[in-house]
Amino acid sequence: MFDITKIHPIINHLKAISNYYKETNNEIITFCNYCDDSTRHKADHGHLYISKSSPVFHCFRCSASGTLIRFLIDSGFEDQEVLTYLSQFIKYRTVKDYYKIKKTVPRINQIKERVIKLNLEFEQKDFIKYNMFTNYLKSRLGNVNISDFLISPMFFYEKLSCLFTNSENEDVVLRLIEPYKDIRYHLFQETSGRYYFQDVDFDKYHRVVLTEGPFDMLSLYLYSDEFKDCFFISLNGKKYNSALEWLILEYFLIDHLEVNFVFDNDVTKYRTYLFRAKALAKNYNENVIIRGWKPIIGKDTGDFPGVVEL
Ligand SMILES: [Zn+2]
Repeated sequence: MFDITKIHPIINHLKAISNYYKETNNEIITFCNYCDDSTRHKADHGHLYISKSSPVFHCFRCSASGTLIRFLIDSGFEDQEVLTYLSQFIKYRTVKDYYKIKKTVPRINQIKERVIKLNLEFEQKDFIKYNMFTNYLKSRLGNVNISDFLISPMFFYEKLSCLFTNSENEDVVLRLIEPYKDIRYHLFQETSGRYYFQDVDFDKYHRVVLTEGPFDMLSLYLYSDEFKDCFFISLNGKKYNSALEWLILEYFLIDHLEVNFVFDNDVTKYRTYLFRAKALAKNYNENVIIRGWKPIIGKDTGDFPGVVEL
């Protein structure tokens, strides 16, 4: 069991770098060395929360967050033995320290405008292929306004494809409409790999739905009654737990959250996924609930948006 209060070199370090130090039941609160909240006009309390039971931190002033190792290195802590000891508690190496890569994200309306422009330009250049593109989307999603979902047409190996952009302006994944070898999807490297179109505002959402593919996700969003007021994410693979850890570390270290894993029907190890997810969530925040679902019929919910709880 991880217990920061028993690691004296860390406690001494925290007291040395911050004039403000307070312990609550679950956290240690100090001044934040990322935003210098100690230099505020009335700096009578800190905003940096370090969990006592898991090696993570979060600043409620500047939103810096990440692993305790990152924090210690950034604040000049040099005891390699302690850092090595800590590393055993950091389970998912895919987690990045998000404050480092926080980029300026355009507003959702600007992203939507870019997508609309891509659609118009494509339509002017190649009307016939553009019709194929919109017909394909109509056949999969029904009559919807595709710019709402940040989808645009593009050519990939000269084959017509749908490009999915997320609401943080990453061009994440494309689905080929015209066949090319046996490629159906192409995931762009150097992106989070996660597609979502809703405004990222987790004051508003406390339920999240995770699916494998973009069409499974959109079909549930559009046609399922099960998931109202949810934030929908397509993982474009099976990285359920790294998405879960990202959500918790970035947005839900304290607040309550319900995460719904919607598996494809060919996933046989869903018990293992759910078991690991529950352990992972508990490690960070007791207020995170995990639920598992699978399609009633078909391979995935892209075919039919009905689900049953596992
Ligand atoms: Zn801060």
